[in-house]
Amino acid sequence: MGVNLINGMETQNKVLIIDDNLTNKSILEDILNANGYQTRYALDGLEGLKIVEEWQPSVILLDLVMPGMDGIRVCEEIRKLKLPSRPSIIIVSIKGDKSTIVDSLAKGADDFIAKPINESELIARVRAQIRINEFYKELEEDKRNLETILEITNALSATLDPSEVLNTIVTKVAGATAAVRCSIVLIVKEDEGYVLASHEDPAVKELRLDLSKYPEIKKVIETKTPLAMDDIISHPLMQAVKDNIKDLKEMSILIVPIVFNDEVLGTLFLRTRKRERGFTKKDIDFCRIIANSTFHALKNARLFEKVTREKDYLKEIAVKDQLTSLYNHNFFYSRLEEEFERAVRYETPLSLIMMDIDNFKQVNDTYGHRVGDVVLREISAMIKRGVRKTDIVARYGGEEFAVILPHTLLKGAVDEAERLRELIESHAYAGLVTDKITMSIGVASYPQKGAMNSGDLVNYADDALYKAKWSGKNCVKVAEV
Ligand code: GH3
Ligand code: MG
Ligand code: MG
Repeated sequence: MGVNLINGMETQNKVLIIDDNLTNKSILEDILNANGYQTRYALDGLEGLKIVEEWQPSVILLDLVMPGMDGIRVCEEIRKLKLPSRPSIIIVSIKGDKSTIVDSLAKGADDFIAKPINESELIARVRAQIRINEFYKELEEDKRNLETILEITNALSATLDPSEVLNTIVTKVAGATAAVRCSIVLIVKEDEGYVLASHEDPAVKELRLDLSKYPEIKKVIETKTPLAMDDIISHPLMQAVKDNIKDLKEMSILIVPIVFNDEVLGTLFLRTRKRERGFTKKDIDFCRIIANSTFHALKNARLFEKVTREKDYLKEIAVKDQLTSLYNHNFFYSRLEEEFERAVRYETPLSLIMMDIDNFKQVNDTYGHRVGDVVLREISAMIKRGVRKTDIVARYGGEEFAVILPHTLLKGAVDEAERLRELIESHAYAGLVTDKITMSIGVASYPQKGAMNSGDLVNYADDALYKAKWSGKNCVKVAEV
């Protein structure tokens, strides 16, 4: 369907007349031209074959009786040609007997018109052939697309090298869609992308793109839907970068997002010469299928892994303390705030434990800072192991720790604090010969105490911690109301 909308006026109305009789030729020509068809003619079979090859008409009106090669031979020869799409052949002859009709149909003709020519019959028959042609073309395109999808699927399972897979994809897609350029772009961050494969140049790998110069790609990332532009230069979206695309006159582009889990990992990018062929709905659907099957290869690409690792690492170091791998102070506050709001909204309890190592300065003074660090790590690991999965453990300060206990009443939090205190006290620390390590712990809860926000809860737990210090350390205290 799409094909005809785009090229209908250009290619689907070409009719070639092969007839040695100039009068016949003129009658046919006049009728066809008057009905909007483009015509060319040949006065013999050889010339006709040449025009068929170079001009690629949709329909050929063929005379049977001609000097040299007769119509039936011409018909056979046309059918031997390798053409991008199959033209229809209508025999136009005075010889209307059954055996001639049967013979020409057997040799590759599609229809037969007996002279004298009747205008409406001729047009009706030409039109019918063009309809069939369109249908043929569509079937051919479907077949080609399916074959390409199959080839890509095979390539995906046959090779483990992601860059080879991506190269196969761009090459096959370019072939199937007649694109002059097909590439796969990996989106790294807001304005950073990389061409991982390009069909024009298989050597292209990880070519960096500044996406601020590609508003069309950014649009697709934003909308997560394919974008087809018939004419890049005149498209409003491209006005900001029109100086960069001056050379792309008469070009159409199609960009399809490669989406996974609602995130655009990359894009399949196609560019084609507008005059030759625009992008059809079929092209878009086809590319969507390809894009859907591309994300695995994209996810396996070396750069993708590297970028993901970096992203994860950056995310991790932003929230974690380096020495202990516990959450850091900032993360602790934002999580506590979230948990507090949730507790208020759903009327569930929330507790907070604050702990400070007793006389830690002495450990450093006696054994050195390095041993002190090891102790901090051991304690961190112990706290982590000693709490429930849903609790959030953070390094609050130098030798201070905090545990957020969602859905936990004061009593449960005190029990957990006491358990932690005992664990830490009874542990034998590497590097410390006999010394015990103890902790002072303060506990506060919402809603037992009139805490209005997460800051209040921290203050109450802190107060309780000081109380523990004042009452001789190595104990758990609860904030007073
Ligand atoms: P208190 O029982 O009153 O808490 O006594 P304390 O010695 O534990 O408390 P103080 O605040 O006087 O000293 C804390 C010490 O913790 C001092 C500091 O050198 C040490 N410290 C803080 N962060 C680190 C760290 O990352 N590594 C090491 N090794 N020591 C640290
Ligand atoms: Mg201390
Ligand atoms: Mg301290």
